[in-house]
Amino acid sequence: MTLKPVTEEFINRLKSGLSPGVASAVPDDYLLEPRSRWQGVSSILMSPRTVKEVSAIVSSANAENIPIIPYGGGTGLVGGQIQDKGPAGILLSLERMNKIRSLNVDENIITVEAGVILSNLRDAAEKEKKIFPLSLASEGTAQIGGNLATNAGGVNVLRYGSTRNLCLGLEVVFADGSIWNGLSRLHKDNTGYDLKNLIIGSEGTLGIITAATLKLFPKPIERTVALIAVNSPKDALKLLSETKEFFGETISAFELINKMGIHFFRETKLMLKFPFSNIPEWMVLLDIGHPGKFSTKENTNEFFENILTSGLAVDGVLAENVSQQNDLWAIRENIPEANRRIGSVSSHDISLPLSEINSFIEETRLEILELGNFRINCFGHLGDGNLHFNIFPQKGENRGDYNHIRPTIKATVHDLVHSHGGSVSAEHGIGRLKINDLVKYSDPIKLKQNKLIKSAMDPKGILNPGAIFGSNLYE
Ligand SMILES: Cc1cc2nc3c(=O)[nH]c(=O)nc-3n(C[C@H](O)[C@H](O)[C@H](O)COP(=O)(O)OP(=O)(O)OC[C@H]3O[C@@H](n4cnc5c(N)ncnc54)[C@H](O)[C@@H]3O)c2cc1C
Repeated sequence: MTLKPVTEEFINRLKSGLSPGVASAVPDDYLLEPRSRWQGVSSILMSPRTVKEVSAIVSSANAENIPIIPYGGGTGLVGGQIQDKGPAGILLSLERMNKIRSLNVDENIITVEAGVILSNLRDAAEKEKKIFPLSLASEGTAQIGGNLATNAGGVNVLRYGSTRNLCLGLEVVFADGSIWNGLSRLHKDNTGYDLKNLIIGSEGTLGIITAATLKLFPKPIERTVALIAVNSPKDALKLLSETKEFFGETISAFELINKMGIHFFRETKLMLKFPFSNIPEWMVLLDIGHPGKFSTKENTNEFFENILTSGLAVDGVLAENVSQQNDLWAIRENIPEANRRIGSVSSHDISLPLSEINSFIEETRLEILELGNFRINCFGHLGDGNLHFNIFPQKGENRGDYNHIRPTIKATVHDLVHSHGGSVSAEHGIGRLKINDLVKYSDPIKLKQNKLIKSAMDPKGILNPGAIFGSNLYE
């Protein structure tokens, strides 16, 4: 189906049925993404206030074959929120749909509109002594609709799962403008295909998420937060296994940090408290949320004594209060910002089976160094096998000088991920960045079924054209 650009005449017709101020010019920053890799072409911003307004916009666009790009906080890292080519369409922002519709303390459920910023959602839960465990460094800007559309991961997946696992129901506007009220509060519902799970992770290509029913959890009574120095990722994995044996399901986060991340703080003048006088080669940030009323101090001390005397940990600091916990977390949370300031040649959001991680890191490091004198910052959510394996130029060099070699670097990393049984997109999605990777590494039957679903649910291809499948989906 041929798509058409949005016209002034179309906007004027549409505006008459919408509340004032819904349509406006697109601010420049809505057309750029965090790593400045794509420049958007969308020519009008629409920020509806209600699901009915979303429906009116989508059904009119569908009738006239006009592209719609759903937009949350704009923090996506694969260009899913940026229409970079084709007939200029509508950028549909959910920012004004930002109400918390209800919170049920007894059921541990919150129902929110898609434009609620993740940190506001987490604060609303905290006020009721609950937690909404999804936590990302971008949570001050990212919206829950965007988190659902990308099936975001973050630091607590080990214990609570990805966004998919935190969602009970959705309200969605489909390509023809129909509104699905699927705001279920049920934990079990086997009635036909699972629409909710089709939409989650579909990156705005199957429907516009306008609201969601989400799970809350009791807030842990006490937390243990520690930064532990280890000799290698192999030892970090052994430590993970021992921590699981000791603390069971109470480990909220188990994050791998490489010394390169700390060097980057200093190079980019990010002033953070760092507890070790010498920077260890590898570190693990461990966060355990103890649920019960029992004292955990003795247990915890015993565990830390064991790992230090056995040599599994070479050093460690245990936060003694909330402020120290925050300082340790700031180290992990600022790594993406330091990376952004340095400017990567190529970044990779990958996942691997846990037992493959050590050999993958060693092999890939050697192959990348064969390609050039690069700096590697490998860090991430080790507990669930998700690494960020990012390649940087040396100090004083410009990442742009390596544009010619970026495809080779990417292919090297992704081929190795694939051969180790991993995934080339762990938590960021496909967007516009990984379209070729999806084709190269996916099972062709899976890809074919995915395209059939897309063409059935959005036959004119108006929803986020170009994302996931590229521009020739129906050819
Ligand atoms: C510093 C930093 C740290 C990050 N850390 C993490 C991390 O730890 N884990 C992780 O998973 N991600 C991380 N991200 C990536 C990003 O924050 C997530 O992908 C996030 O879920 C995107 O949410 P958003 O609201 O910004 O969505 P956007 O960027 O606006 O959109 C992302 C995609 O979702 C679609 N979309 C947005 N809203 C809707 C909607 N209501 N309905 C349908 N489709 C929609 C868009 O079309 C696009 O395809 C990080 C990003 C940054 C900049």
